[in-house]
Amino acid sequence: AAWERGVRASASPRRPDGLSVLVTGAAGFVGTHCSLALKRRGDGVVGLDNFNAYYDPALKRSRQALLARHGVLVLDADINDGALLAKLFEVVPFSHVLHLAAQAGVRYATRNPQSYVASNVAGLVSLFEIVAKHADPQPAIVWASSSSVYGLNTDAPFSELHRTDRPASLYAATKKAGEAIAHTYNHIYGLSITGLRFFTVYGPWGRPDMAYFSFTKSILAGKPITLFRMPDGTAVQRDFTYIDDIVKGCLGALDTAEKSTGVAGGGKKRGPAQLRVYNLGNTSPVPVAKMVSILEDLLGKKAKKSVVTLPQNGDVPFTHANVSLAATDFGYQPTTDLATGLRKFVKWYLQYYSVETGKKINGKSNTAGEEEK
Ligand code: NAD
Repeated sequence: AAWERGVRASASPRRPDGLSVLVTGAAGFVGTHCSLALKRRGDGVVGLDNFNAYYDPALKRSRQALLARHGVLVLDADINDGALLAKLFEVVPFSHVLHLAAQAGVRYATRNPQSYVASNVAGLVSLFEIVAKHADPQPAIVWASSSSVYGLNTDAPFSELHRTDRPASLYAATKKAGEAIAHTYNHIYGLSITGLRFFTVYGPWGRPDMAYFSFTKSILAGKPITLFRMPDGTAVQRDFTYIDDIVKGCLGALDTAEKSTGVAGGGKKRGPAQLRVYNLGNTSPVPVAKMVSILEDLLGKKAKKSVVTLPQNGDVPFTHANVSLAATDFGYQPTTDLATGLRKFVKWYLQYYSVETGKKINGKSNTAGEEEK
């Protein structure tokens, strides 16, 4: 069928030793960048995304169109659709899965708790089940956990050995549950699984629900923004990590993933399989107020700030990654500082939303192409 031809074409690598990767959440922020990077270096990529309305679906459709122009097909599908997943693995012998589909965001959980369970727990099980029992060969899986699993730890920087038993939000709890579920599927079915704990990722084509993005919108519109401080008066800090650094980390994890040792059909595995978890951060936490002042400089406009003491809304006070494990195992090394990364974000934002500010970003006016990063 035409569907199968499209899927096969998108999935086939252009270089002889290229990977063939299923990217879930491909119309998301990180998924779009990773899919483009894989395609650019000659790997085959098929994406899937359910285009949910957690944030502006039009932005997700724009990313899908961008990917289509680069030869990446993104299917409208939910990871809980086992029949569709089984069919996909029947049509394409994927070597890898980059699993990024999830319900993200910590505050949304107060109103929509079940959406986290559906995508981050049930969805993960759905994917692992299909890979364990229907995929032949069984692809290695790399998936997005989160720095939020470090929860209420204060002994930063966090290494992978720090405790993760005190999640501050349902989002964090479902990511922590995902890590436990990964252990089980590795243990029983021999799936090769690598979890990546991303630390506050930002950049062009980013997520409108995240502070750097919504603050940019508010500053330009002259609307007030709210900064949080901890109950003890200290400022909230984040280890902001630029998207290109995260993409390098994801590709490094894919390239060093070993094969699964399971047997198609979910039979007895052939031996122990790889199970890994890595921090991917920037190793350089910045107070949120500093992030705002960089945005003010870039936009040439002052923010109307109010500061409130952090309510119990799932945010953690401080994140800071120790990335030496990822550095050792696949050469992960973040290289983009916050000012440089935000300049690229703002440049993209002004183009994408065709905002006229009079202020020239980076010495150029607002005309650069959409793919410039
Ligand atoms: P995103 O929301 O932009 O991307 C996720 C995509 O998955 C979305 O396009 C969404 O439509 C899709 N999706 C959600 N549920 C789905 C389902 N059930 N079936 C199919 N598609 C579904 O988020 P992102 O920032 O690109 O994050 C990617 C991954 O990284 C997520 O797992 C997220 O939890 C994790 N993460 C992100 C950050 C960050 O700062 N951006 C930090 C830590 C972890």
